[in-house]
Amino acid sequence: MKIHEFQAKELLLAAGAPVPRGIVVSSPAEAVKAFDQIGRPVVLKAQIHAGGRGKGRFKDSGKDFGGVKYIKNRDEVGTVAEVIFKYPLVTKQTGAQGQKVSKVLVQDAADIAREIYLGMVVDRAVGLPVVMACAEGGVEIEEVAARSPEKILKVAVDPNAGLQPFQARRLAFELDFKGDEVPRAEKIMHALARVFLDKDCSLAEINPLVVTPKGEVLALDAKMTFDDNALFRHPDIEALRDENEEDAAELRAARSGLSFISLTGNIGCLVNGAGLAMSTMDIIQYHGGSPANFLDVGGGANKDQVTEALRILLADQRVKAVLINIFGGIMKCDIIAAAVIAAFKEVKPRVPFVVRLEGTNVAEGRKMLEDSGLNLTPATDLTDAAKKVVAAAKECLHRPG
Ligand code: GDP
Ligand code: MG
Repeated sequence: MKIHEFQAKELLLAAGAPVPRGIVVSSPAEAVKAFDQIGRPVVLKAQIHAGGRGKGRFKDSGKDFGGVKYIKNRDEVGTVAEVIFKYPLVTKQTGAQGQKVSKVLVQDAADIAREIYLGMVVDRAVGLPVVMACAEGGVEIEEVAARSPEKILKVAVDPNAGLQPFQARRLAFELDFKGDEVPRAEKIMHALARVFLDKDCSLAEINPLVVTPKGEVLALDAKMTFDDNALFRHPDIEALRDENEEDAAELRAARSGLSFISLTGNIGCLVNGAGLAMSTMDIIQYHGGSPANFLDVGGGANKDQVTEALRILLADQRVKAVLINIFGGIMKCDIIAAAVIAAFKEVKPRVPFVVRLEGTNVAEGRKMLEDSGLNLTPATDLTDAAKKVVAAAKECLHRPG
């Protein structure tokens, strides 16, 4: 689960990291009021979960600013805020449709002498959380990481002991902090590591961490992602969830106990078991197709879940064909076939379906599907299924209308 920048900053502040003063607003009028309260130049920051806001643009607005706008004059606040609230913000991470902004952080603008990247992630190769830092932070960090990976410093952290003082100090020197900046930077590193470990983050990032001309060190931006499997022990974090920012189909699926992830292709997949779901996506790609989603209905899916899964798949207008790939292990094939038939009668699909059943009671299951008179293309094995569904999706794409 992701949270907004202003929420991540509250967590950092509580852990001892200085952040600039900010006020969260929901309308242009409130933005002007917040500007007056702060009484200095501000930065209007669109609160969306996607990153890259500064370099983003507001779709169809004709304006050449993004989701992070420096403002000196009171007159400008209202007009800029109107654009932010009106048009979807498109960044590298939102997709072309962009993301509607419903909250803006009006933040006391900082003077910047230097921008640094500071982040923490779970490094699966090392098997530990790792603090990452780079003296060249800011909006170009992805380019720096790609061009000069040696400039990214990495320090593995023992999750039981936390970030050690010597580790933070070494990082501070390597990042070229000077004099009083050193303890200030260390304090922020400890705060970041504390929040990351205490709250079960999978990612926590301060980019940029800035040094002001006066030598203050501030977290200017913050981004956090939490491990969904650990959310049950953090009701305070769960309470920060913003469903407007989450994929509607994924939310709907989660409510029915389905594991669903939206992808960008046009072949809907309904599969039982995560491993089978992944191999199904692989084999679709191998045969030249592109999956629209990952969907695992689980080992013990019932009719209601299969029906809801079909509804979710078919609600996506990009879906041009669907592959149902079920291995009857815990669940028997005849039970799955009955669920598919019942679901079909209710949902009335508008695109071709290919069904591959295998496992316990497969003969009974296949016969039930055949006898149902429904428009389902049976497949004998996984390769056959993948070829058939890829062909069906291509044909559907080329059909007029
Ligand atoms: P992101 O684009 O979503 O990562 O948003 P950030 O909050 O990181 O802002 C992007 C860039 O805008 C930063 O790297 C800074 O260069 C600039 N910026 C953000 N806040 C301020 C500020 O208070 N003062 C100044 N001068 N620049 C800022
Ligand atoms: Mg940033």
